[in-house]
Amino acid sequence: MDGICKRIELWKSGDNPHYIYEFEQSLFVVGDHQFYKGYSLILLKRHVRELHDLSEKEYLGLQKELFIAGKAVFKTFNPWKMNYTCLGNQDEHIHWHIFPRYTDDKYHKNFPMTDYIRGEIQLDDYFISGQEAKNIAARIRKNISL
Ligand SMILES: [Zn+2]
Repeated sequence: MDGICKRIELWKSGDNPHYIYEFEQSLFVVGDHQFYKGYSLILLKRHVRELHDLSEKEYLGLQKELFIAGKAVFKTFNPWKMNYTCLGNQDEHIHWHIFPRYTDDKYHKNFPMTDYIRGEIQLDDYFISGQEAKNIAARIRKNISL
């Protein structure tokens, strides 16, 4: 089982402090690290590897959920810009990263995680506790408008 399937199992057992909201297709969760304040993800509840493997209905549903999640993150953190990426090279289970970007990041014009890729930050320094994740989740949840 991959990391995302495991996290979905944790959520089902009521033990995932990163949980923000359950949508029809996906779970909206706070990211493990907060180098970008408000970094969060949409995890497809079903294990599917590629976007094109979804039905059109599932794909459009997922996009709407991403749209709602992104608006809630923006409203909560008021970043300079929102970035969204769907990669899945390390965990081959559809998920979207939601990266709020800020101008105090010197690489804000670049791809997300440039600071990390260049070895200029350690993500460990930005990992948050379960309690911090719960607090961020509660703040974002208040700004969800369906
Ligand atoms: Zn999976």
